[in-house]
Amino acid sequence: MSDCLFCRIATREIPAELVLETPRVMAFRDTNPQAPTHVLVIPVEHVANAAELADTDPAYAGELLAAAAEVARREGLGSGYRLVANTGADAGQTVEHLHWHVLGGRPLTWPPG
Ligand code: AMP
Ligand code: ZN
Repeated sequence: MSDCLFCRIATREIPAELVLETPRVMAFRDTNPQAPTHVLVIPVEHVANAAELADTDPAYAGELLAAAAEVARREGLGSGYRLVANTGADAGQTVEHLHWHVLGGRPLTWPPG
């Protein structure tokens, strides 16, 4: 989707600081980090949100989860991290291309706001 920000990152049209890349998954640093480590893990193929992926290709969700765990390992988040996939307006999803936030590097409060 040419008008989708994360599709444009996936095709390298827009630069990002890559942490991990496979033919189907890309991980890059969030430009507005909310923790010392804040990486976004996306499917290279356009999928709007986690619910859509669950409906269409749940195995792909597993690939993304494995990539998120690999990102956490590479980033040295052995003491803990949080995976978040904001889904829909009430959750504050601003980019309509599925992304898992990988957050860590400091103690994280719970519940979130
Ligand atoms: P969400 O609010 O869950 O949809 O998260 C969108 C995230 O994308 C936010 O944390 C933004 O800081 C991040 N973001 C927006 N534009 C970019 C970009 N060009 N490169 C990296 N991260 C971005
Ligand atoms: Zn997209």
